[in-house]
Amino acid sequence: QSQEVSQARIDYHVALQALQEHGTRMVCTGKMHTDRICRFDYLCYCSEAEEFVFFHSNSSVMLPNLGSRRFQPALLDLSSVEDHNTQYFNFLELPAAALKFMPKPVFVPDVTLILNRFNPNNLMHVFHDDLLPAYYTMKQYLDLDDEARLVFMEGWSEGPHFDLYRLLSNKQPLLKEQLRNFGKLMCFTKSYVGLSKMTTWYQYGFVQPQGPKANILVSGNEIRQFARALMEKMNITRPEEADRDGGSVEEETDKKDQYIVVFSRSTTRLILNEAELIMALVQELQMKVVTVSLEDQSFSSIVQVISGAAMLVSMHGAQLITSLFLPRGAAVVELFPFAVNPEQYTPYKTLASLPGMDLHYVSWRNTVEENTVTHPERPWEQGGIAHLEKEEQERILASKDVPRHLCCRNPEWLFRIYQDTRVDLASFLDVLREGMKSKPSLKKSRAASIVHPGRVREPQCQTSVQTSSEARLTVSWQIPWNLKYLKVREVKYEVWIQEQGENTYMPYILPQQNYTFSENIKPFTTYLVWVRCIFNKSLLGPFADVLMCRT
Ligand code: UDP
Repeated sequence: QSQEVSQARIDYHVALQALQEHGTRMVCTGKMHTDRICRFDYLCYCSEAEEFVFFHSNSSVMLPNLGSRRFQPALLDLSSVEDHNTQYFNFLELPAAALKFMPKPVFVPDVTLILNRFNPNNLMHVFHDDLLPAYYTMKQYLDLDDEARLVFMEGWSEGPHFDLYRLLSNKQPLLKEQLRNFGKLMCFTKSYVGLSKMTTWYQYGFVQPQGPKANILVSGNEIRQFARALMEKMNITRPEEADRDGGSVEEETDKKDQYIVVFSRSTTRLILNEAELIMALVQELQMKVVTVSLEDQSFSSIVQVISGAAMLVSMHGAQLITSLFLPRGAAVVELFPFAVNPEQYTPYKTLASLPGMDLHYVSWRNTVEENTVTHPERPWEQGGIAHLEKEEQERILASKDVPRHLCCRNPEWLFRIYQDTRVDLASFLDVLREGMKSKPSLKKSRAASIVHPGRVREPQCQTSVQTSSEARLTVSWQIPWNLKYLKVREVKYEVWIQEQGENTYMPYILPQQNYTFSENIKPFTTYLVWVRCIFNKSLLGPFADVLMCRT
């Protein structure tokens, strides 16, 4: 025992000396606070002040060194939600010499990822804002492995989905309130601060009405790999992927084994005739229907069921994030209450429509006012409107469409989104039939068909002048280097021809590797010519270096 203690003392002594001599070191990626993640040696946290502390010494490093721009508005976003003013990260500074007068620090030996969860009570937010970004931030930095420590600084308690956060690493995540248990001053030996926003696809409407992010950088492939990793951690065995490589679920599996999942909500935004809806689905699609709800099942048993389903039917709501566990080729059917336009609330549609997600998305909207049940008497956060002026209440009650609005407290929106709905089966089945007509083929998702062409090689032009008003321009090139290793259904080439000095160009699509242009080609003129390859109509390659062709 004495050996253990002295060992710990030596380590402690070494760590303390390193902190005193070298201070804190920070090196970050990202030009802006919104795309920054920082790595620290010896970042400290003072629980009394509830502040992180950077200790300056002769060998400390702070990159970027922003001076007071570090506060305009912050060093970085601590959550994955872009530029939210409640989610900023910064630190205080002290000279390392001040350590002499401070409480003895406690050192955290684990490599630590420090972040804010955005809304741990809501399952959609848990996955979209926290789990996916944390998972891929950990993939970005190799030392954030299974033994990494996660620290959640948003200040909330564990929340209903803490078990999901536990799946990210083998070590118990720490909450802000637990940090004081480590004493007044704790220092993280190695830590990363911030989350990658690369995987997020939705913005919640803080500055403009909610909708898909402007520049989505994630594909279904990354979402599915994350889903697979999480399922492995939950010990869920999936139906064999190979079964459905070749075609749609219908073609491959026996129809009798297929089933529909109805994800029901038990407290708010109810489907009032759920039993009827289920009967209609059984009759229409000749499949079994299974219902699940967050109130009745463990999350992992829900994922187990969903991961084998052919269709997921649910009211709009956070539970629909579980569609990321559906097998390829499955359908998502999202129901919307009266006066709520499905086109304006698309987190699940956007997810289902990510390239390579290979889900089929259909929405239905209640258009019959008699079939909605409102709750004007409820508290405002559940859509109650009793607290509003009489006129405003009447305006809301008369409105048949919630106008576009910002997050998060628009009373008309909350009133409408928390309605219960009796689903009109005839219109529901119409939407279902119409929507399922165009089931996408799964062949698209095969590896060979996501490969983009390389540049065409050895592009050349030859010119000749026929008469004082006619000329010819012959352009030729070799196939892209990667094409000889691929089986591509359709290979085409696109040629752009621009007369020098003009700001328009003529585009041509060609099946062959050379072509002689004579229309609109003038003698004694310089043309700029770009050539690129296109696989299967939509996979565009890069343009080769521009050709300068003088007739
Ligand atoms: N929730 C649920 N059953 C209900 C109502 C809500 O399981 O009857 C869950 C819901 O899936 C989400 C959380 O409780 O994870 C918060 O629901 P809320 O209605 O506030 O958010 P929304 O579903 O509209 O995103």
